[in-house]
Amino acid sequence: MMCPRCSHISFDYLDRCKACGEDLVPTKIKLNIYIKPPEMEIGEDGFAVGKVGAPEQNTIEAPPPEKAPD
Ligand SMILES: [Zn+2]
Repeated sequence: MMCPRCSHISFDYLDRCKACGEDLVPTKIKLNIYIKPPEMEIGEDGFAVGKVGAPEQNTIEAPPPEKAPD
């Protein structure tokens, strides 16, 4: 979408203009734009960067075993 303040064209899912920092949410609501940010990262040039939907490794550590009272 186009920023109402500086006319910078940015992604519809951005809540703020990348160029001037204008809050784009009111404009988005006015234009009925409800877009979920993409799961992938988008670079400055508009190309996707990094892996798409890479499953996160389960790194949750098991809690230490409770010590039995002596
Ligand atoms: Zn702007």
